[in-house]
Amino acid sequence: MPFLGRDWRSGGDEWLKTEKGWEKVKIRRWKIFENLNENVVSRCYKRYDPEESKQIACTTQPHIFIVKNSTKEQKCQTSLSEAFSKLDMSGAARDIKRFSYVRKLLEVIIRNKFSSLSGSAQRCIFQILQETVQRVIQTKNDVKLMKTLLNDTHKALNKGKYLHVGSRSLWNMHLNSLQQMMIALEELHIDTPTDESPSLCDLPDDCMREILYKLSDREDIINLGQTCDRTSSLTKEDGLWRDLCVYYFDEVQMAKVLKNNETIESVRWSCLYERLVKRFGFKEDYTELLNLCKHCNALYWSCHGHPCPYPDLEKESASLSPVMCMELFCS
Ligand SMILES: [Zn+2]
Repeated sequence: MPFLGRDWRSGGDEWLKTEKGWEKVKIRRWKIFENLNENVVSRCYKRYDPEESKQIACTTQPHIFIVKNSTKEQKCQTSLSEAFSKLDMSGAARDIKRFSYVRKLLEVIIRNKFSSLSGSAQRCIFQILQETVQRVIQTKNDVKLMKTLLNDTHKALNKGKYLHVGSRSLWNMHLNSLQQMMIALEELHIDTPTDESPSLCDLPDDCMREILYKLSDREDIINLGQTCDRTSSLTKEDGLWRDLCVYYFDEVQMAKVLKNNETIESVRWSCLYERLVKRFGFKEDYTELLNLCKHCNALYWSCHGHPCPYPDLEKESASLSPVMCMELFCS
């Protein structure tokens, strides 16, 4: 007689059917307690000071202790949906400091791994995608980047149409939800300034230079240079391109893109920057990143920190780029 025991590889998860489909019980339970906790804390604050309670956005440190695997095939046992819920990715999508990291993370996952993700991970990604679209609609910033991301999602859904994890109805649900997001972005109306309202070109050169030096994308600088004659001459300044070259690349990389008999002084910095980006790619730069603590394997946002069980040890963490984060959960 065959012996039917528990699967030794994993204890399995309990699932619950909700209006939006199946959800892991432990994640749902965690979300409910998290909401309860926030409500109780904000009520206490309200009693204490009604004005201060309005400013409370986050009462906890979003973090998760990663359980690593020793196999190369699967780097960690923690699921993507559980990790992203505990790291408050939806909240991060609404945060100006973490938005670009979340957008890039969505981009790399959707382009490379979406069809092989589990159904709950796919739903989690779409939930975060909806939050990013909402933020773009509210702020009217990053519209072009968001449209590119939605087009990438459309391509990924078409590519994985016949070969994907999860049911066909779930895939159709993604398609419907994507269509709604695309329509919402298309209908977004951005007000053009009237002639009377002050524009960027009305600022003095010094102020305009300050803004220009904060831009990191070559395309943004070139586009800004096309808006008026003054910005055009400011964007051609060598100092601007020199700062970008020095900030993003080192001397060894600069030497590698010089042609015969050329020196750094003999080449225009704008030309050098173009060559460097072409050869080494655009270096990612984020205000806030996900960090992995080397002592306790906690994954956390650099701005929030984490409750380390080893407070006496010297802090040692590794920053994870969006690609590294994807590889951790989607190997
Ligand atoms: Zn730690």
